[in-house]
Amino acid sequence: MEHKNKNYTFKSDSGISVNFGWLIKNYTALKKLEYKIIIKEYDSPEKLTPEDKELVNKAKKAAEVAYAPYSKFFVGAAVKLENGKTVIGSNQENAAYPSGLCAERVAIFAASSLYPGVAIKTIAVTAKAEKFIINNPVTPCGSCRQVLIEYEHKFGKPIRIILTGAKGKVFIIDKAEDILPLSFNSDELKK
Ligand SMILES: [Zn+2]
Repeated sequence: MEHKNKNYTFKSDSGISVNFGWLIKNYTALKKLEYKIIIKEYDSPEKLTPEDKELVNKAKKAAEVAYAPYSKFFVGAAVKLENGKTVIGSNQENAAYPSGLCAERVAIFAASSLYPGVAIKTIAVTAKAEKFIINNPVTPCGSCRQVLIEYEHKFGKPIRIILTGAKGKVFIIDKAEDILPLSFNSDELKK
């Protein structure tokens, strides 16, 4: 094998030479973009404002009635809307696994159906498992993040996200965009 630094020519045992000069050029970034997010951490839901605590409690109640016979991972979500209404959702599983839906999307889609055109202010998400204790804040899956972005973008208003487990600390994130950087949204379809 032959290797020449000067013109980036690599020669394999088979005798094939490839010039990688252009490739190395393209791999040199002009600048690095840093993405910073702020997550506020609280020791427990007890430390939250009464309004946020109430929303977490509603999410916990929703988790109690989740239909999760397969994962035994019971997730609850509560969405607070700009008109003051709260809509809850819980995960709905299915024997044909992909047919089920996460608690966050159940809540968001129900809210959008019941109160179309009303912006979402905050969503609280929590979970409990049958066989272990969830000590850390649960986080939305990628698809739910994408759906949160859709509504955040639609109304042009940030959606606060409150995350907690069965026990322990709480995370608060000020906008959905923070947990899905470089997200795809409807602006991309207008170009
Ligand atoms: Zn999800």
